[in-house]
Amino acid sequence: MSAQQAGLREVPTLVETVAGASTSAQTGTQRITGKLLATHGYVVGIEISGSGARQSVALADLNGSILHRIRRPLEYVPDTKTVLQLLDEMLAEVMNPQRLQDGRVLRVGVAVGGLVDATRGVVRTLHHAYGWDDFPLQDYLTERLNIPCIIDNNANAAALAEVQYGAGIGERIVLYVGLGRGIGGGLVVNGKIYHGTTCSAGEIGHLLVKEHGPKCSCGNFGHLEAIASAQAISRTMIGLSVEYPETEEAISRITGARAESITAEQVFQLAADGDPIAQRIVGDVVNYLGIALANIIHLMNPSMIMLGGQVAQAGDLLLIPLQARLRDLCLPVASQDVRIVLGKLGTEANIVGAVTLALQDI
Ligand SMILES: [Zn+2]
Repeated sequence: MSAQQAGLREVPTLVETVAGASTSAQTGTQRITGKLLATHGYVVGIEISGSGARQSVALADLNGSILHRIRRPLEYVPDTKTVLQLLDEMLAEVMNPQRLQDGRVLRVGVAVGGLVDATRGVVRTLHHAYGWDDFPLQDYLTERLNIPCIIDNNANAAALAEVQYGAGIGERIVLYVGLGRGIGGGLVVNGKIYHGTTCSAGEIGHLLVKEHGPKCSCGNFGHLEAIASAQAISRTMIGLSVEYPETEEAISRITGARAESITAEQVFQLAADGDPIAQRIVGDVVNYLGIALANIIHLMNPSMIMLGGQVAQAGDLLLIPLQARLRDLCLPVASQDVRIVLGKLGTEANIVGAVTLALQDI
């Protein structure tokens, strides 16, 4: 599809067109980048995860403001067909012509909770789900909707969103750490996602932090995700509490007698309230997350590390001991200027990330 067909007007270059103007993506009501200029229209963001817990579609304007959004979480691990059918229904609802008063949808962005080859637009693996290996999602959606589509890993998308709209505005070298059911990482360098050679950069959930440690979702042992993900924290808490009646009682109290539903945030709360088992688990999370981040800090020398996802909902209960741990572990020259902060977009980072992907180069 040509730029004109897509409703875009071609302009020569940013320098020629807006010489001397701000290089910000927004100038008044227009968004300008190096290649294209669009004054009217919308973008659509899609978030999908293999666990089924996060499936949403959002319609946004060209400033990135979400105008309409639908969430359809699934309770079970879905197959490819179920997810694609669900996406079809959500897209039809979000892209209802009555909502599109200001033009057409110019691009679709997808934040995928799995390994993504962003160069080819292919989902390599969708974690916790089957039938997605090497699925060409970008081409599939582009052809189905007749709208250009861009896909990327959800942590990469979240990282970009935090840099453009959230806690990382203006930062040059940023790591976003998504502490969700799994652990993902996204690196943004000079405003662009750093993908690495085979689009696997930022897969920090699989950093080895504890030899002979617990088993990871990838099959190996001692990876960060097996210790510090939301799922690992909840599982470890439930598993260890069996031998400690007082801890079991505390879990029952904080979860309203639904121990199996305990969240990572609640484990942090129990630790703060003095429960020794929760304190041991939180201690491990801070220690091993600290080791992983200290190694990254020495390699990348970032200006900011942003924490997002469910575990980051623990807020200062995670942030303050982690900052102290990193001060202990890092050379001062590497850590003195790095700010460890909570993401501003919270658990919305992935869907805002999908919208941000769609807005790139518009
Ligand atoms: Zn792993």
